[in-house]
Amino acid sequence: MSPAEPVRRTRLLVLAGPTAVGKGTVAAAVRELHPDVWISVSATTRSPRPGEVDGVHYRFVDDAQFDRLVAAGEMLEWAVVHGAARYGTPRGPVEEALGAGRPSMLEIDLQGARQVRTTMPDALFVFLKPPSWDELVRRLVGRGTETPEERERRLVTAREELAAEPEFDVTIVNHEVHSAAHDLVTLMMLDPSDHPND
Ligand code: 5GP
Repeated sequence: MSPAEPVRRTRLLVLAGPTAVGKGTVAAAVRELHPDVWISVSATTRSPRPGEVDGVHYRFVDDAQFDRLVAAGEMLEWAVVHGAARYGTPRGPVEEALGAGRPSMLEIDLQGARQVRTTMPDALFVFLKPPSWDELVRRLVGRGTETPEERERRLVTAREELAAEPEFDVTIVNHEVHSAAHDLVTLMMLDPSDHPND
């Protein structure tokens, strides 16, 4: 970099929102739209779904490995999500990406976002919201990855999670995946001093 070039400061973007709102799909669209954006790969104790690749969609670990990561202080945040598996963000890769000045993003649940809020208050917290409650239910039923009991439990959690919107710096309504992804990329490319929570 030449001395005349301004140093790009980057800040972490944390994307959260209720179950089935489409966080994963929007994150995938961000990656497609902007391969420069770094998106954290979470560790989880849940089993891979068909088509999911270890190290790409998640780092699939067993309970003992997850315990070791937590004990070693290697998790930036972690939570039990939907009363089932544990999910967490490995700290090292986040620090590396930010250190390299890459626009960086986490896609995590509300409990995790609250933890990052305390440890990295400078991050930009974005709430992804469904166009309506009925649309959220339709998406959850439509993806068909949960049993009816699991679905009921997720809907109870989703009601609580929707109430957390005021804790966030910015809300994006997920009417359409590419438009939501575009909004996220625009936020990430803003100079941190222009971010809406300053
Ligand atoms: P799924 O099992 O459907 O891939 O994800 C379930 C939930 O776990 C989603 O709400 C997702 O945002 C959340 N999640 C994924 N990775 C992480 C993580 O690293 N930390 C936390 N706290 N939640 C995560």
